[in-house]
Amino acid sequence: MPKDLYDVAIIGCGPGGLQAAIHSASKKAKVIVFGKPRNSSLYKAHIANFCCSEKLISGKEMLEAGRKQAESFDAVFLEEDIIETKNENKLFSLFTESGETFTSRTLILSMGVARKKLRVKGENRLVGRGVSYCVDCDANFYRGLDVAVVGNESAATTGAITLLSYARTVYLICRKLMITDTLYKQLRNSQVKVIQDTWVKEIIGTNDVEEVLLKNGETLKVNGIFVELGAKGALELAANLGAMFDAETISFIETNRKQETNIPGLYAAGDITGQPWQIAKAVGEGCVAGIEATEYAKKLAKS
Ligand SMILES: Cc1cc2nc3c(=O)[nH]c(=O)nc-3n(C[C@H](O)[C@H](O)[C@H](O)COP(=O)(O)OP(=O)(O)OC[C@H]3O[C@@H](n4cnc5c(N)ncnc54)[C@H](O)[C@@H]3O)c2cc1C
Repeated sequence: MPKDLYDVAIIGCGPGGLQAAIHSASKKAKVIVFGKPRNSSLYKAHIANFCCSEKLISGKEMLEAGRKQAESFDAVFLEEDIIETKNENKLFSLFTESGETFTSRTLILSMGVARKKLRVKGENRLVGRGVSYCVDCDANFYRGLDVAVVGNESAATTGAITLLSYARTVYLICRKLMITDTLYKQLRNSQVKVIQDTWVKEIIGTNDVEEVLLKNGETLKVNGIFVELGAKGALELAANLGAMFDAETISFIETNRKQETNIPGLYAAGDITGQPWQIAKAVGEGCVAGIEATEYAKKLAKS
């Protein structure tokens, strides 16, 4: 058994992940939670329709209070993105952006809704024709071609490095990189061409992406552009674990009433399982996932 084996690991510290942490840690499970509060949908929201919140509550304050509550039951928090997950020998391994590995008997995915858009001219029209939101899904289509990745955080950086194994040229367009020293070193030692202090103004192409126009006036001739804003989302991390998505949109993780996915020990809660995107749903599912994961981990520990 690994030295630091957790019962329940949770990716996401929004309301779904926090409630899961509170319920599992209060049942004496050894819990670790990954994620950055500023990337939760709740961070900038003001809430009036959540039960018992008659007055407007700031989302940021709710997130801080939820963390304190989970910590009071000894849940551990790490403000880092998970960039890779593996499921081997009934254990989940989680790899952080700073190069650390954590192991857990169960995993709860609560990463919110995935893909943020750039909202620039040409983006919507060229989705699937060179505009992609998932490096792990689409990298293979760009073998020997030139691509750009846009984003300031870990998803864009790891995405650009991954694409080097496929594409001829990889540009990383960012305003300012917000990544760990470990990732920064990896990027610096790679062949990724980093273009800093600018952003995408327009994506140009008749049928497929041909060029990307930057705000600094530069034009990049590329065959594809990957929009990777924030951290790795549900699509990549869950798909790598073999989790099933909803049949209609293939965007949300499918669960049963116990928040179980098709993979034993893997649970999902919150916006990541589909609409309505509301705190009440996220905490409800987080509660169920936390309880169920704890039970599963205890049985596994005894077996
Ligand atoms: C402007 C706005 C107003 C809103 N108003 C309301 C309202 O009035 N009432 C209401 O009920 N709901 C409201 N919502 C919706 C509500 O905020 C969401 O339904 C809720 O936050 C979902 O919780 P979640 O835990 O599923 O996901 P989120 O809160 O989005 O949290 C996701 C977490 O996952 C983390 N994460 C993602 N990827 C990774 C990774 N690879 N590694 C580590 N961590 C990762 C993020 O850092 C984040 O902490 C609003 C949303 C917005 C944007």
